Amino acid sequence: MSLILDGKLLAEETKRCLKSKVEQLKKKTKKTISLAVVYLAGENLATKIYVSKKQQAAKEVGIESLVYELKRETKQQELQEVIQGLNQDSKVNGILLQLPLSNKLQPELAVLQINPIKDVDGLHPFNLGLLMLNKPNLIPCTPYGIIKLLEKYQIELEGKKSLVIGRSFLVGKPIAQLLSNKNATVTVAHSKTPREELIQLIKESEILVCALGQANFIQADWLQENSIVIDVGINRDKNQKIVGDVDFVGAREKVRAITPVPGGVGPLTVAQLLVNTVKAFEFQNFGESLIDLELF
Ligand code: NDP
Repeated sequence: MSLILDGKLLAEETKRCLKSKVEQLKKKTKKTISLAVVYLAGENLATKIYVSKKQQAAKEVGIESLVYELKRETKQQELQEVIQGLNQDSKVNGILLQLPLSNKLQPELAVLQINPIKDVDGLHPFNLGLLMLNKPNLIPCTPYGIIKLLEKYQIELEGKKSLVIGRSFLVGKPIAQLLSNKNATVTVAHSKTPREELIQLIKESEILVCALGQANFIQADWLQENSIVIDVGINRDKNQKIVGDVDFVGAREKVRAITPVPGGVGPLTVAQLLVNTVKAFEFQNFGESLIDLELF
């Protein structure tokens, strides 16, 4: 039986620590800490659920959340103007653009408008660039949560054969970079990787991060007994049940450690968003260097 890597537990611990930090910061500065969440109405059913989870978590730790629900027919220019307005608003410490957007909008262009010191999702090219230089500032929330979880369970990364399946700018690319920064040996697979090659890579990997977004795609017999499996996927199966990218029932009998879905990476994504909001507040109020090596 595998060790279950409990993201929910770590997220609760993180929020408890943050709550007292937020109280101290508010007392010291006599200011509120606030997070603006921008999203498009009606595009994706899950979006509203994610936004309300983030609002609820912010409230738990004492961060004010401001939600901007934009009409589904919002144009690129209008979206960018909303973001620019939030950049100008000194009461807003963090800006999160909830992805995915509609097909007509370009998320990369919208993210480019966010002031990097308010970019609490860590997806602005400035912050992604710092990650590449191994001098991270605001780190993308899901990859950051994964690294925190591996650290919590003292899972060694140096020299480990690691496979990331998926290469999105939201998850796959930044987690591959973070693992490389931690001296893992990283391979990235994607939809053009031939199936037989993918199965072989999975069999050889000691650390496996699955972020492809296909319900139960990874079969238990592709996995090796010593592997650590991080399942990022959030999908609905035929019965509308939320499942990951990995066949969890089979895999948990086989591998060394695995994250459940739900209760694995998801809660950590939310917790790290709050961590980033507090970091952004500190940069903005105490003028600490953007390149703060202590953060990592
Ligand atoms: P994207 O759709 O942006 O990216 C999916 C990636 O998977 C692409 O790089 C794609 O390759 C690759 N891929 C798709 N099918 C296959 C396949 N059969 N074999 C190998 N690679 C494949 O998704 P995201 O990165 O945004 O999200 C991935 C999953 O993670 C989703 O289920 C999403 O809901 C979930 N998620 C969970 C979060 C959490 O907090 N737990 C946070 C964010 C996302 P190619 O580049 O060639 O198209």
